[in-house]
Amino acid sequence: MRLSEFFLPTLKETPSEAQIASHRYMLRAGMIRQSSAGIYSWLPLGFRVLKKIEQIVREEQDAAGAQEVLMPTIQPADLWRESGRYDDYGKEMLRITDRHDRDMLYGPTNEEQITEIFRASARSYRDVPRMLYHIQWKFRDEVRPRFGIMRGREFLMKDAYSFDLDYESSKRAYNKMFVAYLKTFERLGVKAIPLRADTGPIGGDLSHEFVVLADTGESEVFCHKDLLDMPTPGEIDYSDDLQPIVDQWTSVYAAADDKHVPSECPVPEADLVTRRGIEVGHIFHFGDKYSRPMGAKVAGPDGQEVTLQMGSYGIGVSRLVGGIIEASHDDDGIIWPKSVAPFNAGIINLKPGDPDCDAACEALEAQLSGAGLDVLIDDTDERAGAKFAKMDLIGLPWQAVIGPRGVKNGIIEVKRRRTGEKEELSTEAAVNKIVGFE
Ligand code: ATP
Ligand code: MG
Repeated sequence: MRLSEFFLPTLKETPSEAQIASHRYMLRAGMIRQSSAGIYSWLPLGFRVLKKIEQIVREEQDAAGAQEVLMPTIQPADLWRESGRYDDYGKEMLRITDRHDRDMLYGPTNEEQITEIFRASARSYRDVPRMLYHIQWKFRDEVRPRFGIMRGREFLMKDAYSFDLDYESSKRAYNKMFVAYLKTFERLGVKAIPLRADTGPIGGDLSHEFVVLADTGESEVFCHKDLLDMPTPGEIDYSDDLQPIVDQWTSVYAAADDKHVPSECPVPEADLVTRRGIEVGHIFHFGDKYSRPMGAKVAGPDGQEVTLQMGSYGIGVSRLVGGIIEASHDDDGIIWPKSVAPFNAGIINLKPGDPDCDAACEALEAQLSGAGLDVLIDDTDERAGAKFAKMDLIGLPWQAVIGPRGVKNGIIEVKRRRTGEKEELSTEAAVNKIVGFE
């Protein structure tokens, strides 16, 4: 992709409404544009990142045995009357009336919708266990939308739902999602730790929030220092018993914000660390909260009717774009982890129009894209300083600078964005460096 043709409306000034780094950088790097409070358009650079995150989330859901569906954004109010949540949900729910005066709503979540889908066909114990998920836009009329897409009103969520015959089976589904989340966040290049979360009036211990550690996080996280460098499990066979992995992660104490800290902290003071965090995922076993009022049941092996056990498992896909930036940036801009970077490398042509420079840029681009990498070439007429600043701002993992002097000596300057480390390399060595990077 050539920058001269790419729709990248960057801003030089720091937008005054943006209070945190991710919001500032997403606006300045031309990733998003606000439409109204908490509602954004995704521009090409931001959209590429959103899609990469979505795809990693999808692959890990599929690996864990969840099956993808796509439910609508608009739901009938009657479904929510059945579960009893229509009145409880309050002003966060966007309520809509259609031309026939039917009450509809823009879904803030999909428990009711999926329960309706499942109950329509599930007849016997052979129809479970099942895990279904979708990646769909949600709307919640948040009191205080803020921090850009981090707390938006319209946002993209992956939500999975499990259906099981009994608690033990439901717990296996929960454990699968727990482990899938560890793998997902690791692939996204962020450190996310599971925190015991409130289960509210339902009780039970099967609820965890996954929190990305970043200084600007909304909540305070107290945890055992060992949790910070707990290794993520390697290859997973999801038909194995995953309880030992879950136990390993949950035996080490962690709690979010002061309201969750028990009066007696089980961690000795010397081992306790305090961090700030951003909630990027939430997994939750809620038993028959929806299946009972909505009549989602099957015939058990003995012919008796059994009300299904359910869980739901969310990931804030659009929030993660901001969460990753919060966890990975410096004073000059974003530093994308390789797996979600909008392009793998940027080539800066210091003298566009110079046949040798143009040819060197094209040769490098051809080799990098031949190796499967996405490349952005800055072929614009801007000053060198402005080009460097823009490339730092948009945060591609590698920058290759090609100018007349280097070209004469067969040299490209390669910079690694994360460390700022620069090296002068031949084209071949530059390609090897960038392609071989893990
Ligand atoms: P929060 O406490 O941040 O409001 P929640 O408990 O309401 O989150 P869930 O209903 O569990 O969130 O939704 C699943 C995930 O969706 C959250 O973990 C979060 O990553 C994301 N999410 C929730 N609300 C928003 C929002 N307003 N904007 C962007 N992402 C959101
Ligand atoms: Mg909320």
